[in-house]
Amino acid sequence: MLSMPATADVSGNVSDAAFIAGQYCDDTWRALSKLAIAPGDLAVERAGHIANRLSAALGNGPWHVLVFSYPKLGWPVMALMGNRILVAKEFVDDSNDNELAFVYAHEMGHVALGHLPQRYAALIADAGGAVTRWTQVTRYAREEWALFRQEELEADQFGFALAARAGFDAKAGADSALSHLTPDPQHPTPEARLSALGLKGASR
Ligand SMILES: [Zn+2]
Repeated sequence: MLSMPATADVSGNVSDAAFIAGQYCDDTWRALSKLAIAPGDLAVERAGHIANRLSAALGNGPWHVLVFSYPKLGWPVMALMGNRILVAKEFVDDSNDNELAFVYAHEMGHVALGHLPQRYAALIADAGGAVTRWTQVTRYAREEWALFRQEELEADQFGFALAARAGFDAKAGADSALSHLTPDPQHPTPEARLSALGLKGASR
């Protein structure tokens, strides 16, 4: 039903969407860089080590990991175009390696599957084109929740396979990470996500 960026349902062209998505990635990276935890912290080492194992399995070059601390942000991990991952120190400290690996791999999946340009292509179309800044389309996000939910399931499949290929216990990681999510309309329910992976959810 949903397709990759090259054939996404858009009125603008794909390079516009890639440009706007890249702009969003650069701005986000720059903003969170100001909250970076200094190298040497155990969380930074662990976060980097897990990303290295996953990127070796993915085989598309090294990923840059930025560990930040900003508890009010509302999301713990995000991957950006240009092989970049942002992760909250609090999330690293609270998660075991399998959980971290599944969540990282899920986020890497969003990038590898071209979800950011796909999202921006749809949002630019919602805005009627002629967009020069990503901030001009954020108000249309609600119209794309169905697309977002579909992307989540695709990223789950990708992340599950990648985490397993990198030698992590993908089942335990996905089970634990997805079981502890708070439901929101931009994501499928945790139950739907677990069941799409053939899992039942942690009993704890
Ligand atoms: Zn996701």
